[in-house]
Amino acid sequence: MDLTIRIPRPDDWHVHLRDGAMLEAVVGYTARRFRYAMIMPNLNPPIATTELADQYRQRILRAAGNQSPEFQPLMTVYCSTNLDQDDLIRGHEAGIVKAVKYYPAGATTNSDHGGDNILNFIDLFETMADQKIPLLVHAESTNPEIDLFDREAAFLEQELHPLCEQVPNLQVTVEHVSTSAGVDFALAHQRVAASVTPHHLAKNSSDLMAPEFDPDLFCKPIINSEADRQAIVSAVTSGNPSFFLGTDSAPHPTSEKYGEEAKAGIFNAAYGLEVVAEIFAKENKIKYFSSFASKNGAAFYGYEPSQDELQLTREQVDVELASTLSTRDGDKVVLFGRDEASHWTVSPI
Ligand SMILES: [Zn+2]
Repeated sequence: MDLTIRIPRPDDWHVHLRDGAMLEAVVGYTARRFRYAMIMPNLNPPIATTELADQYRQRILRAAGNQSPEFQPLMTVYCSTNLDQDDLIRGHEAGIVKAVKYYPAGATTNSDHGGDNILNFIDLFETMADQKIPLLVHAESTNPEIDLFDREAAFLEQELHPLCEQVPNLQVTVEHVSTSAGVDFALAHQRVAASVTPHHLAKNSSDLMAPEFDPDLFCKPIINSEADRQAIVSAVTSGNPSFFLGTDSAPHPTSEKYGEEAKAGIFNAAYGLEVVAEIFAKENKIKYFSSFASKNGAAFYGYEPSQDELQLTREQVDVELASTLSTRDGDKVVLFGRDEASHWTVSPI
């Protein structure tokens, strides 16, 4: 099937750009394709103040250079007991801080400063609801007694649902939704939306585990069952405005992916758009691709879609696509989605 579509330049509502040599190596992949990018704050130490967010934003723009005039990093700050509410309000009013990101302590990369229970931050969240500052949530229980594959559902039931009841005006995004429970949660709560990654749309736990554990598919929350994948695919391909693209692109050097303990994270900024387009094309729902990639998230966060456009054409690509990138420090990062990308070309108009 050959086809060509044009979409407003998409936004990535969840991305990890890291810092230093890794930032320099990866930022272009995001900046060349996306307009807005919601930047995750889990550096070490975390981005926890307006000043740190502003400095990080400038490092990102410097690394991106001026070849992508539409690209704009939108900064988030890290939710912890150290977060200063006055600083947050000032940063938000100044247009520097766009949202607060909550991590359960220990759930994923650089999350040690996160919270033990989201309900401990009710006071902050009430302020955020008043100030119309969105809360972005890594929704995953860290209780070791709960099965890894059940942790999103447990967190939603035990922590996020009570929070949404207690602070109903708070705007919440369930980030990188990975289960049917996550889909249902976004559908059931009026002020809640869900970001969705290319890899949770394209892969299931069998891909991760068989014939052997694949560290390149290891991320948090874990890629879940085929039934969960199908629930997510059918939600996003319905065009429902509560679902939008947040790639969760998260580069790790191969030395840390294939080491003693695989780091959680998948780098999909290079080919993630092709992976998502392929899903929509296969489901015969390509007409909703622009809602998911370019419109729903913008509307949720109060922006118009981009005036600029990208063209995606499904056709066999004859050039050999790269499977890794290298940083100036000599680290390599594996690029997710090369198979799908071999069927698509993406170009600015
Ligand atoms: Zn993430």
